[in-house]
Amino acid sequence: MISTGIESDPLSARMTSFSQSDIDALGARAEAMVNSLGTVSAEPDRLVRLFLTPEHRRAADRVSDWMRDAGLAVSEDALGTVRGRLEGTSNRRLLIGSHIDTVIDAGMYDGPFGVIAGILAADHIVRSGRKLRYGIDVLAFGDEEGSRFPATLSSSSACAGIFKTQNLALADRNGVTFRDALIAYGKDPATISAAAYARDEAAAYVEVHIEQGPVLETRREPLGVVTAIIGQTYLNMEFLGEAGHAGTVPMPMRRDALAGAAEAMLLGESLARETKGEVVATVGRIAVAPGATNVIPANVVVIFDIRSASETARHQLVEKLRAGVRAIADKRHLGLTITSTREVVTTPCHPAVQEAFADAVRALGFEPPRLGSGAGHDGQAMAKLCPIGMLFVRCRGGISHNPMEYAGPRDIGLAVAALIGFIERFDPAKLI
Ligand SMILES: [Zn+2]
Repeated sequence: MISTGIESDPLSARMTSFSQSDIDALGARAEAMVNSLGTVSAEPDRLVRLFLTPEHRRAADRVSDWMRDAGLAVSEDALGTVRGRLEGTSNRRLLIGSHIDTVIDAGMYDGPFGVIAGILAADHIVRSGRKLRYGIDVLAFGDEEGSRFPATLSSSSACAGIFKTQNLALADRNGVTFRDALIAYGKDPATISAAAYARDEAAAYVEVHIEQGPVLETRREPLGVVTAIIGQTYLNMEFLGEAGHAGTVPMPMRRDALAGAAEAMLLGESLARETKGEVVATVGRIAVAPGATNVIPANVVVIFDIRSASETARHQLVEKLRAGVRAIADKRHLGLTITSTREVVTTPCHPAVQEAFADAVRALGFEPPRLGSGAGHDGQAMAKLCPIGMLFVRCRGGISHNPMEYAGPRDIGLAVAALIGFIERFDPAKLI
């Protein structure tokens, strides 16, 4: 039998064709929902919605109401992930998700729009009266950003069956542990393993998200198909020199840890520039001790954040940087320790999922650019369970993690329409 997403009776086999007013209506609904969730905050003057807080509860309740209105059966797992379920004719399901937690002083689109797109797409399928060959679960994760506890992707890790139980001992900045916060939220940590999907149940995980970068805007395209969520290395470098009086120690006799670190940072920048866009390297955090204006720095820690869609290119840069920085430290008679504190492999998006998204976007009259995701996403955890894919939406100025974050109603309407088109084209059989 030919397997397609939709039961093959002549009526239901048709793909939805969208008029401009259909798109505008979807965009207006999505924008109103984004604005509604954007008011759910711990603070009156900025958007702060952290995992397992009263704001998380209020946002989850609002999302649950929307899911019920769309005709989905709503449940919540042990980490508070809201699940809206539409049954299909088999036990396989397409998982569509994103997150409802935010960074501190966040924008309204990062995360919530993906959840809302999933709800509106499911709503469209329900109202069309069609029965899909596979079920749909719309997932609203509560811990993607890692803004509360020093761990990320907890919610999706639980769904993927890779949650690290030792993370329950992590504490937030007020000393509240993950475990205690979970219990206060009304959840039982002993039931986390039950949140995992069975492998034969999860056909694929897809996510619609704002791009959080400038590529689509520069290319004048509303939507883009993600090829991979890029890999990442954190290199923690500690330089040890010698403190001394800023007035009395002659320049040739100094062992200045900060001057050595500065040279290392410039080396990292030039190595990344040489890759012509394949690798990006950033130092966003530096600690200087003793940290006094009139004392030669004795101890400096810098943390490099190095990312690339290519595992090889990232590893090559890391090796060159390690060797180059070691030479800098030797020349300056500095002690040096380099530790890798984070190593995230590149997560490719499944080619068949990319194709189905691209076809859905083409059906709307656009040719979607392919691009890597420089930011992390729940798909990195979900990829341990099943094939994944992502659709990016153009956002103004590429700005994200900022209250200025914005995507226009027409673009988000197109994104919902593309997700509906994806659902109509999705064929689990092509993923095997
Ligand atoms: Zn996000």
